[in-house]
Amino acid sequence: MRHVSRGFDKTQGELLVLDDVDLSLQSGEIVGLLGRSGSGKSTLLRIVCGLIQPSSGEVMYQGQRVQGPAPGIAMVFQNFALFPWLTVLENVEVGLEAQRVPAAERRARALSAIDLIGLDGFENAYPREMSGGMRQRVGFARALVVNPTLLLMDEPFSALDVLTAETLRTDLLDLWTQARMPIQSVLIVTHNIEEAVLMCDRILVLSSNPGRVVAEIKVPFARPRNRLDPAFRDLVDDIYATMTARLSSEQGRRALTLGSRLPPVSTNLLAGLAEMLVTAPYQGHADMPEIASALLLEVDDLFPVAETLQYLAFAELREGDIVLTPPGHVFAESGTQERKRLFADHLLRHVPLAARIRQVLNERPGHHAPRVRFEQELEDFLTDGAARETLDTAINWGRYAEIFSYNDKSEMFSLDDVEA
Ligand code: ADP
Ligand code: MG
Repeated sequence: MRHVSRGFDKTQGELLVLDDVDLSLQSGEIVGLLGRSGSGKSTLLRIVCGLIQPSSGEVMYQGQRVQGPAPGIAMVFQNFALFPWLTVLENVEVGLEAQRVPAAERRARALSAIDLIGLDGFENAYPREMSGGMRQRVGFARALVVNPTLLLMDEPFSALDVLTAETLRTDLLDLWTQARMPIQSVLIVTHNIEEAVLMCDRILVLSSNPGRVVAEIKVPFARPRNRLDPAFRDLVDDIYATMTARLSSEQGRRALTLGSRLPPVSTNLLAGLAEMLVTAPYQGHADMPEIASALLLEVDDLFPVAETLQYLAFAELREGDIVLTPPGHVFAESGTQERKRLFADHLLRHVPLAARIRQVLNERPGHHAPRVRFEQELEDFLTDGAARETLDTAINWGRYAEIFSYNDKSEMFSLDDVEA
């Protein structure tokens, strides 16, 4: 990929999702793409396989410019993307229909892909009769049946439970190590740092808003890898620090604006993290990987919580550490009422959307406003889904802070039961 950028049209100009991304894959390597949700990972994969076009820049594969679905490149999706009315065998054969492969050869190749991925005996089963892990095996068989030389995987294990994911990962790595597939390179998207270190030869970190490749990490360990190996753990920690350092510098540049996306973080989680940070052994200062594992959270779950505490000026993020600010200490240590008051104060000062809702309610004679009033305003900046999610988050925080009321049924905001 050379100088690839991609934007999507919005009422308020263009939303730039990928900005000047350069990326190359060599034969013989598994490359991981790590980034937070919304950073443009799926968009990047879709561009690589020719499903969508870049706004500028180009993608070359084996000397040819990729301009539409490219032969030799196959993709495995997070949600399996199977046809429920087709059997396993038929689902796998679908991969070959577009290529006009004769029926007999289609069948033979589908059967051998099914065999390779460990689905022998399930040829005539329907997706609904199978577990998530088996369904994703069908997803893999359908990608493998076209004999791809490049395999793209978009968070292929994230919809599976931990054990199923581990089994499937190991099976796939075994096939790779034993060179039992014609695949020459793999590009896997993940938001799980451990998974990336376990599987990849090289890891690229994608920043958010817009997505750029901001770090490249080589993974020097032989396979099979041991998660408990101290060198393995150290590398996971380093990547964590890289990603949090990015996060803090990205944030240093930017306070929230009215059109900023708000992460769906509950006030319980915010208070929980603050409380944990303030107690021993952290005393207000903790290493992010350490606190993530203490809370049993993954990177994609912890970052938004930490980020929100930072937006609210309750914490600062520095090089892989999270540090409570003085008001953050007070927030963590006070009782319910005091905590709510402090949260309300910081919410109105640091989250422009919350302040806007309150201002509109103050100004309207009956102090009422419908949800659509704000949803439409947000849709100038965000996609419909993101606008809805952002408003839901603001409702959540605003209700907790008691800066406004919201009626789920009538979808109306008001100042009923709110102190002036
Ligand atoms: P990731 O896979 O890293 O979570 P995506 O590539 O799915 O990220 O999305 C990145 C951003 O691009 C998001 O803000 C998303 O809303 C936006 N986006 C993706 N596809 C479209 C589309 N077809 N139209 C408008 N916006 C889109
Ligand atoms: Mg995605």
